[in-house]
Amino acid sequence: MLHHGAIPERVYLNHISPLWYHQMAGPLVSSRPTLRRLSRARLLQDTNNKMQQIDSIGFAVRGALYHCPVKGEFEYHADALVLVDHQGQITEVLTPEAPGFAARCAALSEANELTELAEGQYLMPGMVDLHVHAPQWPQAGKGLDLPLYDWLQDYTFPLEAKFADVTFAREVYPHLVNALLANGTTSAVYFATVHNPASVALAEICLELGQRGYIGKVNMDDPDQCPPYYIESTEQGLADTEAFIQQVRALPGNEQQLVNPVITPRFVPSCTRAMLQGLGELAQRYHCHVQTHCSESDWARDYSQAHYGQSDVEIYQSMGLLTDRTILAHSIFLSDSDMAAIRDAGAAIAHCPLSNTYFANAAMKTREVLDGDLQVGLGTDLAGAPIPSVFHTCLDAVNHSRAREDGTNTHLPAQQRGEAGSRVSFLEAYWMATVGGGLAIDAKVGLFAPGYAFDALVVDANAPDSDLYLPEGMDTPRDRLEKLISLTRRQNIRTVWVQGRKVIQK
Ligand SMILES: [Zn+2]
Repeated sequence: MLHHGAIPERVYLNHISPLWYHQMAGPLVSSRPTLRRLSRARLLQDTNNKMQQIDSIGFAVRGALYHCPVKGEFEYHADALVLVDHQGQITEVLTPEAPGFAARCAALSEANELTELAEGQYLMPGMVDLHVHAPQWPQAGKGLDLPLYDWLQDYTFPLEAKFADVTFAREVYPHLVNALLANGTTSAVYFATVHNPASVALAEICLELGQRGYIGKVNMDDPDQCPPYYIESTEQGLADTEAFIQQVRALPGNEQQLVNPVITPRFVPSCTRAMLQGLGELAQRYHCHVQTHCSESDWARDYSQAHYGQSDVEIYQSMGLLTDRTILAHSIFLSDSDMAAIRDAGAAIAHCPLSNTYFANAAMKTREVLDGDLQVGLGTDLAGAPIPSVFHTCLDAVNHSRAREDGTNTHLPAQQRGEAGSRVSFLEAYWMATVGGGLAIDAKVGLFAPGYAFDALVVDANAPDSDLYLPEGMDTPRDRLEKLISLTRRQNIRTVWVQGRKVIQK
């Protein structure tokens, strides 16, 4: 072990110059001929390891950092250094107390591999949107004062049918994906339409623009519930779904599986029993993600009871569609046994608070879902809600829970009006939008830690036209984070990275 004593290993391991190795190796190995080969071998190995490590650093970002690794809590570092390798994975997260911090920063800066954030800028995890109807983007903001049935018949189905034309899809989808990225959504779980070419086009556009995408070719084959101009046969729907899975997985440039196919029965009423069964078999065979709507409204819940004598959760479970890769949008009317089944399966819920306000007929049991340790993240439900920002969805989740807690009926006394103790905090909402969403899509995203993908945002409180006002000395770190969650808008998001690739810079 003499050579260990002779070599200042810590310094050596932190050093990056191969010249330094050659300078040190000569005098050391010449003094002990019997150890010479061992020492050289050891040195070469160490050098190779170290050089590989250095070579593997693609870039680093230094600045103030927020994230919420633990539900309901947060971490803030006024100064942190996040190192990212060439595959877009985080290799280290360091703070100034770490040995060699200043030297690392200096070396990275010299190598032109360091991005340093300015005063008022914050590094935050990318947001995960668990529920987006991509083809509904052109209708965002229309008809949201209508009942669901009219909204679907008058706006949604005629619009979705247009995606039979892949050229139309190629006009709409880039605008949506770019808007979501610019609003900080680094991962999105999409419903597309029944059409294979347009659904594959959405996957290609995500890949091209650099968004982590989970994309579903929608299935709907029940002639009693689907309009005649927007329906598929059971057989064709299943064949198209299998082809879609294979096509998306094999897309050129998708070696890191940045885009993924998702099995997507629209909801129970739109699918025949044979379709649900067939999709369940595909989910098991391909180990795919599954997404669907679950007990979204009184009508949806009653339909399942009338036709199956079961809840949506029980139906999906019996069809093989409730797995640890399933994302259930809404999930408003859940019984205790439904909640237990979701938890036991390891499935996740996409909570879409603003859409629920319009269409759910009731409030989401978010408090119980969080306390029951079910997997849960947030969804915008574009265009069942019109705002393409998961920051805004965090605010909506807090608002939704507070309306539920207080109630709305002024004819009732206060203590009977709402459901006491049901509010959720901004930190819980933000955890759902980041870590919770990452768990739901089985991706290592949503926080800054070694092994996680570098999906991240620079939020700039000092951006022009900003609503964020963070005056010196008036906010605690928690106050500041709550303001960042509530008031970050598109203009505040300066830079967006997905898997280490810079996809937005302004
Ligand atoms: Zn939806």
